[in-house]
Amino acid sequence: MNLGPGPVPGPFLSMADGRSAVRNPNSPLAVEFAGVGLTYAARDGSTLALEAVDLAVRPGEFVAIVGPSGCGKTTFLKLTSGLLRPSQGEVRVEGRPVRGPLKIVGMAFQNPTLLPWRTTLENVLLPLEIVQPYRREYRRDRAKYRSTALDLLSSVGLDGFADRNPWQLSGGMQQRTSLCRALVHQPAILLLDEPFGALDAFTREELWLVLQRLCSERNCTVILVTHDLREAIFLADTVYVMSRRPGRLVSRTEVAFPRPRGLEDCFTSQFLELFQDIRRQIGEVREAP
Ligand code: ADP
Ligand code: MG
Repeated sequence: MNLGPGPVPGPFLSMADGRSAVRNPNSPLAVEFAGVGLTYAARDGSTLALEAVDLAVRPGEFVAIVGPSGCGKTTFLKLTSGLLRPSQGEVRVEGRPVRGPLKIVGMAFQNPTLLPWRTTLENVLLPLEIVQPYRREYRRDRAKYRSTALDLLSSVGLDGFADRNPWQLSGGMQQRTSLCRALVHQPAILLLDEPFGALDAFTREELWLVLQRLCSERNCTVILVTHDLREAIFLADTVYVMSRRPGRLVSRTEVAFPRPRGLEDCFTSQFLELFQDIRRQIGEVREAP
């Protein structure tokens, strides 16, 4: 286990799956938190949600943040996407301070929040209809983007469901659709807020494999927030543990298992040792006064 935000990468970024990219040593980190705190102010008092968060995420890295309910995980993602501004410190994405909502991120949540009156395909295309500059491009070449969206749906096993309404889809299919919607504008950074939390264990594991494949094909940077430690270890290159509120990052663990990972890898002794090690860290955080 090593603490802190971790080293700034050198000229070679080697990923757990052997992908390696030569990068300019001066190229910016994908995401940086420097001394970030966030206080929610309300009429009946203020809530310190996050405190002194330092973090550095390399381009293409898959980060998972595990922590108990209410510790500030969603707040962390909102700060990354620019939906919230920090009360202290600075958030930087691709080297630039975040000053407002970012267009280069895609987000998916525990609740897929699909619009019931739109078909599956129309739901996937929604970000392109709303967000500039995609809106302009989409209007110019609808056929191209429809074809991109159909390819995405097909790649997550939803061939033939494009014209169905969300209420005709199972929970797992809705979450697949939500992943496609988060990826349709080819974001550099994918933010996932407990996306599989409401699914049964079998469907959840199937979607781990889908997500792993989508991310390795696109080489995007991912921040996944979850309270499922097995999910975090299975998917991530780096797992951070967040303390109870006010959320602080209390440990950082690198997961060096090769990719692509299979579900059977969850039962190897190395996986179980790492699982126990991080469990112990979470236990220590729980017992802390
Ligand atoms: P998590 O996602 O880990 O469950 P959140 O980031 O949603 O936690 O919330 C962290 C803390 O901040 C919680 O105590 C929550 O009640 C509080 N909180 C979240 N959003 C708001 C808000 N808009 N106003 C006031 N308090 C909030
Ligand atoms: Mg949350």
